[in-house]
Amino acid sequence: MLKYLRREIRDLEAYEVKERDYVVKLDANEGVDWLDGLNRYPVDRSDALRDKLARQLGKTPGELVFGNGSSELIELVFKAYLEAGETVVSFSPTFSMYRIFTLIHKGRYLEMPLKDMVSLDVEAFIAFANENRAKVVLISNPNNPTGTILSPEAIEKIVREVDAMVVIDEAYIEFSDQPLTDKTRDYPNAVVLRTFSKAYGLAGIRLGYMIAHEEVIGYINRVRSPYNLNVLTQGVGLKALESVAIARENIQMIKEERERMAKVLRDKGFDPLPSQANFLFFQAKKGLYRYLADQGVLIRGFGGDLEGYYRLTIGTPKENDIVINAIEEAQNERSQDR
Ligand SMILES: *Cc1c(COP(=O)(O)O)cnc(C)c1O
Repeated sequence: MLKYLRREIRDLEAYEVKERDYVVKLDANEGVDWLDGLNRYPVDRSDALRDKLARQLGKTPGELVFGNGSSELIELVFKAYLEAGETVVSFSPTFSMYRIFTLIHKGRYLEMPLKDMVSLDVEAFIAFANENRAKVVLISNPNNPTGTILSPEAIEKIVREVDAMVVIDEAYIEFSDQPLTDKTRDYPNAVVLRTFSKAYGLAGIRLGYMIAHEEVIGYINRVRSPYNLNVLTQGVGLKALESVAIARENIQMIKEERERMAKVLRDKGFDPLPSQANFLFFQAKKGLYRYLADQGVLIRGFGGDLEGYYRLTIGTPKENDIVINAIEEAQNERSQDR
């Protein structure tokens, strides 16, 4: 949407890399091949990967852009749309990188608290964004670290009623019961971000993608560094898209394990929030966290307003059994102290 685009970006053109057939290629100052043809720069817009993903999603390639993780894509939205001093709005608690990226890009970052850490008053959130003249609204859906999710209707209402770009960060959407649909064709102020880091189990390759209106993708390409996606990542990403059955099985396993672990935690006296992601969020004593850490079982603890809250990623059945045993040991030990 041109309306929200930064002034400096309006007159920029996207850097175009022309792919042409050649006999000798001496136009890019590349070095000598000694390792698997990696002397060549990657295909700039990840064409093979993009075509394949577009087909799987029912999109045109022009509605997609890849990033070095979806983290890069959040920053590209700020580069295209956020002027210094302008406001970014989200709710709390949420992904801590939103604040950090906003401050790096010289924005003002504001959060509206969720009710009981769970529910969002959608009307109040829209008013909050508009009263603070938000330029970008960030929505983690499902939300990290709570695991809760907003309905497609709530998202659409926010997109329709705020006067801002709305980034819907769907890093965990594959673990939810909602269909993978989006309204970016109807709403050019909506941007959907997804990643290969969670459901695809490929955090190591740093690969994320954006779905947005073709016009928006064009603007994002103006601020994106050429060749941002390396050759190795493009190759593995393509392989991942050819292995959707494996991803689907893993997602199903994690969803089942999530429900098993939620029940175990409830049986042990904890109260995890209902989760639509691959983690559970619950309150516990610091002693439990320390005991687990001593056993080499790492879960995520938080500080500040979230002191006393913990986030447990759902692992394989075997890993989860180790967690369960460690929690039982911790509880037994404590009862012996008394
Ligand atoms: C993990 C996560 C990401 C993904 O980051 P990548 O850079 O793609 O690895 C994005 N948003 C949220 C809320 C996350 O939890």
